[in-house]
Amino acid sequence: MRQIAIYGKGGIGKSTTTQNLSAALAKMGKKIMLVGCDPKSDSTRLILGGVPGTTVMDLLRRSGGGEIALEDILRTGFLGVRAVESGGPEPGIGCAGRGIITAIGLLEELGAFDENPDYVFYDVLGDVVCGGFAMPIREGRAQEVYIVCSGEMMALYAANNICRSVERFAATGKTRLGGLICNSRMVDGERQLVEEFAAAVNTKLLYFLPRDNDVQRAELRRQTVLEYLPDSAQAAEYMALARAVDENNAFSVPTPLTNEELETLFENHNPLL
Ligand code: ADP
Ligand code: SF4
Ligand code: MG
Repeated sequence: MRQIAIYGKGGIGKSTTTQNLSAALAKMGKKIMLVGCDPKSDSTRLILGGVPGTTVMDLLRRSGGGEIALEDILRTGFLGVRAVESGGPEPGIGCAGRGIITAIGLLEELGAFDENPDYVFYDVLGDVVCGGFAMPIREGRAQEVYIVCSGEMMALYAANNICRSVERFAATGKTRLGGLICNSRMVDGERQLVEEFAAAVNTKLLYFLPRDNDVQRAELRRQTVLEYLPDSAQAAEYMALARAVDENNAFSVPTPLTNEELETLFENHNPLL
């Protein structure tokens, strides 16, 4: 069982990429569990064909300490991918990170991990990993981290901050960085910039995903590209990403840059300057 946390700037494509990656791995015959760790509860919509009505936190609140069954929270979606949304506290009150850890604790209690999936993905909100949103890696659960980014400055700024957290938890635990997934924003010189950044923080560009409107077409149908357009070029890209993740055996402790070093990297490699 490989437990993988996906981090990256908000809106960069974590949920889209994680669900298409899950579908592609399922197509390769792998058993997948997907844990949405975002209070917005939009991490499993493409796999489940819509936003689930109840999250783990909703159910805990409603049950008032009563019995909860695994089937109440863990749903089966496309190609048998099992998916659950942690949900969050009441908006404006409480720590969302605690919500995530409560949800994961309940999944454990109800035996979700006993099914021994090949992969468990945690799709985590948070461009800056606060203590709360670091929960999936803090408790030593997900030992493998991938950062979704692009060649946009703020996406790499966020990626560098995430590297800082991974470095911190690597010092006391087994958390390691598996690489960067560039979800292209069609920035000039994007691949080269992300490769340079990856080398500078002691990791690699695991995969470069093109930007493609088929992602939106599928999203409108509440489906992954793998389901809606299985013969498309973008579906083939997600299959290749799945193979890259499945075959990845190089994990590192990142060496984050100082803000000054990051600025210099941008200045040296920006074709717009
Ligand atoms: P996050 O989970 O990081 O906040 P999302 O996965 O929700 O981001 O993605 C934000 C938007 O970007 C979505 O509406 C999605 O359709 C779009 N998107 C993601 N990846 C791609 C891509 N490779 N090509 C085109 N659009 C994409
Ligand atoms: Fe919010 Fe993070 Fe603080 Fe929790 S730890 S209250 S999620 S900022
Ligand atoms: Mg998301």
